[in-house]
Formats: sequence, C-alpha cells, structure tokens
Amino acid sequence: MADQQIREEIRAVLETFSHSPKAHVQSFGCQLNFCDGEKYKGILQDLGYELTDTPEEADVILFNACAVRAHAESRVIGRLGALKAIREKNPRLVVGLCGCMAEEQAVRDLLKKSYPFVNLVLGAGAMERLPESLMAVYRGQKRAEALAFAGLPDETLPTVRESTFQASVPVMYGCNNFCTYCIVPYVRGRERSRTPEAIEAEVRGLIANGCREILLLGQNVNSYGRGLETEMNFPALLRRLDAIPGDYIIRFMSSHPKDATPELIDTMLDSEHIEHHLHLPVQSGSDAVLKAMNRRYTAEKYLTMIDYARAKAPDFGFSSDLIVGFPTETDADFEETMRIIEYVKYDNLYTFIYSRRDGTPAAEMPQVSTEEQIAARMARLLARQKEICEKWNARFLGKTVRMLAEKRSPETGLLLGKTREGLVIEVPGGESDIGSLLDVRVTGVKNWALSGEKQ
Ligand code: SAM
Ligand code: SF4
Repeated sequence: MADQQIREEIRAVLETFSHSPKAHVQSFGCQLNFCDGEKYKGILQDLGYELTDTPEEADVILFNACAVRAHAESRVIGRLGALKAIREKNPRLVVGLCGCMAEEQAVRDLLKKSYPFVNLVLGAGAMERLPESLMAVYRGQKRAEALAFAGLPDETLPTVRESTFQASVPVMYGCNNFCTYCIVPYVRGRERSRTPEAIEAEVRGLIANGCREILLLGQNVNSYGRGLETEMNFPALLRRLDAIPGDYIIRFMSSHPKDATPELIDTMLDSEHIEHHLHLPVQSGSDAVLKAMNRRYTAEKYLTMIDYARAKAPDFGFSSDLIVGFPTETDADFEETMRIIEYVKYDNLYTFIYSRRDGTPAAEMPQVSTEEQIAARMARLLARQKEICEKWNARFLGKTVRMLAEKRSPETGLLLGKTREGLVIEVPGGESDIGSLLDVRVTGVKNWALSGEKQ
C-alpha cells in the first residue's frame, strides 16, 4: 500500500484537477508482465485514478513493456513517441515506461536523449515506488526514475484483476539461468521465491471468490523454493495448493527442462486440480546449440521427461518455446530441431526468430546463417508443426474432455477454451457458460484446435 503521506499528497494534487483523474496502463510481453500490469492498475486505482482504455483521456499513461525481443521493444518505443502529441495538449500528463524494458540502460539513455516528455521510468520490481515517483513528477521533477530488481513486491499491493475466473499468481521472480541469448536475468535479477504461505493465501482467496483457473508464474518454476527459510520445492508447493478444496484448475509456466523431475510429473498426475500439460521450452533440438545457449540439458535428457509422462499418461500435453536462427545454428542443427518436433508432437509451439540482445553472451557470437536461411527454416518448422498437430489432435476424437470456457470467438461466435492437456477447443454455447468448467465431447479436429459439443 502506498505510504499514507504520499497518498494524501497525491490525492491533494488530484483534487485540483477540473475533471475526474484517469489512468491508462498497457502491458506488453509475457504473462508475468500482464500480471505486473494488474498491480500497476491496482496502485493507481488505490491512489484515486479511474482506469481508462483510452490514452487520450488519461492523466497518467504507463507502458509496461518487455525486454525479451528487440522488435517488440522498437514497437513500444514507436508507440511512446506517438504520446508526445497527447502530452503537448496536456502538460500535467504523466507518461511512464515501466517493466523490464525500463531496466535497460540503453533504453533509459534513449529516453533521455530523444523522449524527454517521458517523465516516469520504473523498473520491473520497483512497482511499489510508483506513488513516490508520481509525486516527484507532480512536485516538478523533470523525470522520476526508480530501478530495483532485488527483493519481492509488497504482498499488500492492490491488484485489479482483468478476469473474474482466471488469475495469474507469481510464485517467484527473477532468473539465475543466464541462457546466453536471454536478457531476463539482467533486467529481472536473481531468483527469489514468495513464501508458500503467501501464495496459498492468495490462491485460497481467489478460489473463495469463484476463480476457476489459477496460473502459477515464474521464469523457472522448477527452481521454486531455493533460498526460502523452510525446505520447499515446486512439487511440494503444487501439492499444498492442490489440497485446497473447490472446483478449479491449476496451470503453471515456465518449466526449465534441466530442473523438471519425475516427481513433478507424478505430482501433476496424482493431483485433482493440476492440468496434464507441461510447457517445457526446448529452444533447440541440437546438443551443440543447446550447449552454446547454456541450457544445461541434451536433447536426449529432454526427451526422457516426455517419455516418462507419456508412459504414464499417453495423452499428456506438451508445449514449447523454440528459437530459430541462434547465431551458431547451422542447417544440420536445425534438422535436429525438426527431429524433436516430430518425436514430441507438441500441442502448442511458440516459435521465435533469434533476436540479438546487447549485453548477452550470444550477442558476441558471429551469425553463421543468412536471414533468408533463417526465414526458410522457420517457414518449414511452422508448416510441419501444423501437419503434426492436426494428426496428433485426433487422439481426442470421440473422447469427453473438460474445458474452461474462456471467451467467445469474435469470428465464429463459438466458445473458446483449453482442455486439460492445454489444447484449444471450441464449442457452441451460451453467454452464461463463460467462466464455467464444461464437459465436452470432441467431434472434430483442426490443426490448431479441437471442436466439440457440450455434454
Ligand atoms: N524462462 C522461460 C524459459 O526459459 O522457458 C522463458 C522466458 S522468455 C521471456 C520466453 C521465451 O522467449 C524463451 O523461452 C525463448 O524461447 C524466447 N527468447 C528469449 N530470449 C530470446 C531472444 N534473444 N531471441 C528470441 N527469443 C528469445
Ligand atoms: Fe531467459 Fe533462460 Fe532464464 Fe528463461 S531460463 S528467463 S530463457 S535466462
């Protein structure tokens, strides 16, 4: 909660406005960033701002942006630039960049040089310093900067949840893995875990309020618990949460393959509420590339986890992240990646063209492939994955699956949700079904989804 004195000072400023003060928060990037965005909204609402989706009518505009890929960063910078005109019309407007992108020195230098109208810069992990930073701007400071990526966010920070039936719950922050392509450890700091008591209290509260899906988040949930005073690992946390009574499901991401264990799979399969789906980012199928990426597993070791799960539950769902065009990746390395997708038969694949990030070890590695070669690899990967999915999805034809109806498709009007194994499924249904767990018989298969009928 904001320091009482700062809160009163901000309220006094807001009372001088001739209209009711409004704030606009826009998040970009991963689920964790969206989760942080809900906290920025909570803090601003608590300070007396009404939240708005229209930046033009806002008195505070916050872009909560992700540092993982350069292209996404450039898009955010472009959108920030477009706010200059709004700021010129409203000199009291506070324009802020926050999140892990704001932790980058190069970004802060660029803002200083070319975007002086951005008057608030708040690093990921410094969100509780939003009130004091806002007040510094209202007192006349040209730009307030707060950076901090150590420690845990204040457990009492208010949150504005986007959904009443789906909620993200961070279990840990930061990352210790230093994959050579990745900027996250430099902008989100070292791993630190929330206590199981705090997580359980949050999850219990959500379930008591009717939440149906809890998504546990961390850069590598499998290292949850390291550094806590009491001995704890991620499967133990899952068991503790699974014991909470109620009609709900638990998902989680991401799992680093080097730390995924049979205990994790057993815990999922023995649970009442945990979905049978594991997001297990492989990144590449080539041992040489995995080594250069500092992933600390081989393709063979990775596949033992897939085999273990599928031996116990043949329909078990896997999804993955894959990088194409890592600097050392040759055509032969890429063939190994193709072999992995043939073997695993992922239900969902998130594919990324390698993006060079200054300050990471991979940025110093010479690129051995041309842009055309990389684009051709990506096209081949996507085309083959589509075929694999369509065939593999057929394993559910005629079966009854459970889905959480999340929303209505704007194109078809059908309800969209996910099965226990993480596959997208669409069914005809009414407005009152949204937010409910439904039993559905699978009647059709597409390359990106299942279709079915409510039972
Ligand atoms: N910690 C998670 C893990 O290791 O699975 C993922 C976090 S990262 C934000 C999400 C994905 O972005 C990674 O799994 C990786 O595929 C991708 N990624 C990270 N850095 C990248 C880069 N420099 N270029 C392209 N993709 C990148
Ligand atoms: Fe980045 Fe690797 Fe950490 Fe994931 S595990 S956040 S890819 S450094």
